[in-house]
Amino acid sequence: MRTDAFALRHIGPRETDLQHMLKTIGVESIEQLVYETLPDDIRLKAPLNLDPAMTEYEFANHIQELGKKNKVFKSYIGLGYHPTIVPAPIQRNIFENPGWYTAYTPYQAEIAQGRLEAILNFQTTVIELTGMEIANASLLDEGTAAAEAMALLFDVRTRDQKKNNTNKFFVSEEILPQTLSILQTRSTPIGIELVVGNHETFDFSNEFFGAILQYPGKYGQVNDYSAFVAKAKENEIKVAFAADILSLAALTSPGEMGAAVVVGTTQRFGVPMGYGGPHAAFFATKDEYKRSMPGRIIGVSIDVNGNRALRMALGTREQHIKREKATSNICTAQVLLAVMAGMYAVYHGPKGLQYIAGKVHASAVTAAEALNKLGVYQTNTAYFDTILVKADAQKVKAIAEKNEVNFFYVDADTISISFNETTSIADINQIIAIFAEALGKESFTVSELTASSQLPASLERTSSFLTHDVFNNHHSESQIMRYIKKLERKDLSLNHSMISLGSCTMKLNAASEMLPLSMPNWNSIHPFAPVEQAEGYITMLKKLEEQLNVITGFAGTTLQPNSGAQGEYAGLMAIRAYHLSRNEGHRNVCLIPSSAHGTNPASAAMAGMKIIVTKTTPEGNIDVEDLREKAIEHKDDLSCLMVTYPSTHGVFESSIIEITKLIHDNGGLVYMDGANMNAQVGLTNPATIGADVCHLNLHKTFAIPHGGGGPGVGPICVNEKLVPFLPTNPILKVGGEQAITAISSAPYGSALVCLISYGYITMMGAEGLKSATEHAILNANYMKARFEGHYPILYTGECGRAAHEMILDCRSFKENGIEVGDIAKRLMDYGFHAPTVSFPVAGTLMIEPTESEDLAELDRFCDALISIRKEIEASTADDKNNVLKNAPHTLAMLTTDSWDFPYTREKAAYPLEYIAENKFWPSVRRVDDAYGDRNLICSCAPIEAYMEN
Ligand SMILES: *Cc1c(COP(=O)(O)O)cnc(C)c1O
Repeated sequence: MRTDAFALRHIGPRETDLQHMLKTIGVESIEQLVYETLPDDIRLKAPLNLDPAMTEYEFANHIQELGKKNKVFKSYIGLGYHPTIVPAPIQRNIFENPGWYTAYTPYQAEIAQGRLEAILNFQTTVIELTGMEIANASLLDEGTAAAEAMALLFDVRTRDQKKNNTNKFFVSEEILPQTLSILQTRSTPIGIELVVGNHETFDFSNEFFGAILQYPGKYGQVNDYSAFVAKAKENEIKVAFAADILSLAALTSPGEMGAAVVVGTTQRFGVPMGYGGPHAAFFATKDEYKRSMPGRIIGVSIDVNGNRALRMALGTREQHIKREKATSNICTAQVLLAVMAGMYAVYHGPKGLQYIAGKVHASAVTAAEALNKLGVYQTNTAYFDTILVKADAQKVKAIAEKNEVNFFYVDADTISISFNETTSIADINQIIAIFAEALGKESFTVSELTASSQLPASLERTSSFLTHDVFNNHHSESQIMRYIKKLERKDLSLNHSMISLGSCTMKLNAASEMLPLSMPNWNSIHPFAPVEQAEGYITMLKKLEEQLNVITGFAGTTLQPNSGAQGEYAGLMAIRAYHLSRNEGHRNVCLIPSSAHGTNPASAAMAGMKIIVTKTTPEGNIDVEDLREKAIEHKDDLSCLMVTYPSTHGVFESSIIEITKLIHDNGGLVYMDGANMNAQVGLTNPATIGADVCHLNLHKTFAIPHGGGGPGVGPICVNEKLVPFLPTNPILKVGGEQAITAISSAPYGSALVCLISYGYITMMGAEGLKSATEHAILNANYMKARFEGHYPILYTGECGRAAHEMILDCRSFKENGIEVGDIAKRLMDYGFHAPTVSFPVAGTLMIEPTESEDLAELDRFCDALISIRKEIEASTADDKNNVLKNAPHTLAMLTTDSWDFPYTREKAAYPLEYIAENKFWPSVRRVDDAYGDRNLICSCAPIEAYMEN
């Protein structure tokens, strides 16, 4: 028997465990279990048509070879992406460390204080550099962050501007091209009219509710926008800035100029370009807009002992709650990358950032002066890192590429050159030589950077930033290494124990899949580099698209969306374009079952659709009669149905074929939310159930790590009808024949992490993938069998089987005074992260073990929950002082001299035997959410600042 197959490493249960597991479930074989789980009429008849699986070693060689087809040229392209130096301790201790990259979104604050602090550092960095009052924990990229800024200003316009009937948004022509394309996509369906123009000739007409400026402009021009903002204010027009984060260490902040919102990317803070992503965008605004702010915010609060404790703030403003009233659908963001960027600021500190900004600026000025000597005219009147020069683009391009250098060629005689942290004197001399050769002139060299500045005197930054200790005490490697370790130790990640997040599929993120991310040939390519230089990437991305086509049964895939929710939006926009192309643009009704994930209605609202919610039956299935009624009632303007399959309740509904047919018969298309694809791969697929489009969460089903809340990749896969409408990019043409405008900034979204899913599929192969699905179903049903008699399971299929996840009903424990949240906190004492709490049904836990967990780990988790069940039994309705209510228990509690709880220390911390040898200590006691929301603080403030008086 072969033992080198990757599937054997990825899938948890061992061959020898199978009999016991099957017997516990009460089936003869996995085949029988699958037969009882999945309706017959949707079963795939043939194996997936994929290449034979590679071993890990074969894949390592393959990806190395393929990487050689990417040409790493010196990049001066700019446009929001810059070469950067990833500090080695950050690369080794965060980027390549499963303690950081396998963490879940920090909903369980007591076991997430490390990354919460790291994100707080990120927020502080953003707040102080932009000069704003509040910032969020990251967004997907600069372009979509700009669209979120537009949406926020549109949302608040009626509140304090009394601009009920204004719908015009001014966009400076200095905006990055990809940002403009996204603004076009996002404005149209919600009725915003974009007006692109020159900010100096803008007429400040009353019809505008807002404006967005680029600072510095797309080709480097630095403008003083103070007068613009002041004039806008007089006319009740709110101004957003898209700003370069590094430039803000040298330039007056947008906040000081009166900005209402500031967005941008933090890529150049030590996050590799990766052919477009992933990178953390930032979003900063004024305190008064905090309730309209997209994404998540980390805030400071206290635990039950009054100690400082961090947690996600203002939970009630999440899209899950707002649903169809949402203005944003952000769920997954870019947490891992935000952690890296925040740590870059910690490592360099204010002086380091000023030094880097100064050096980058000096490189630009030095090059401009040298080129001037050659007779090359530089046209920006003031600039930070980018110069715009006049020269024969064709000639320069040929010579530059021969020298492995990329500039950005604006037109036939204009070239933009963007400098960065890696630029050396030798690089500047190479640039001089390239232009000299193009002009047929004698070249010369410079030997040092100039001291002169081309920043306008009026815009030189005078305000201080990053004065907090954390940014000033971690500048040696020992300090930063220990600081990162200190934070990491506070967090429970997949390298400690299973994280059974229902719907979120926290499976193994294998090291073999992750390794290529560190290779320069993969991570150092600019997304707008000439495609000939990215042959390795194009080959890999096309191959991944084909693999996903095969897996979903569809005809085309775009990898552009950077999250599942963004995939939803892309899919709905493709559906919209399809109806428009058939002169049926009036079709805008979107049917959504009430059990849907909150992002579904939020995405539909952003796509300008009218949302009709349909009922679910008491068994948790779609109420087909209600759906039929509504589909028929709206048949003249039906756009689509959004359906999750298997359902959000973890059941393969047998009526799915009838449901999709019903929608088609009434002129609509079917959008399948593919978050639960882990129960389908190799057994059935969206095309077979009759869907027209689905998104996949590569960060769930296809092994990209969760990163503590991102990165994500949410490709959409579509049938022939929708292929023509897949999104494009304004600089590198991708997508369909009648492509919609951009969904995200980079042509292929977060291309770097697509390597992970490519690796996963390539090493698993058809058989391995199918086996993974079967084992995911096996593990879920094994746990379900173990819970029998202890916890009621909500909703199962017709044969009493779960699919890949199950819901434990905890509502009746109210009689014992126990809430589902108490169980979640008590699980920490047992060394486990809670499953999904109160989704899709309030008062329940949704458990998804995935195929990666082995029998022993499943048993430990089941033992823990069963033991907790006994503790619940011992609790009474008005008992406020017991082992559940006081959970989690910290080491500090256990080791104080006085112990006055009505149970032993051992029961508190070591309730089961397995715990002792691998104890995980929560670092704070239970966190008070309400306190933090009343006293919202989202940056590294001193403790006095949040004491309630
Ligand atoms: C995770 C999830 C989404 C959203 O995906 P993000 O990447 O977080 O935007 C949508 N629907 C369901 C059912 C999900 O589980």
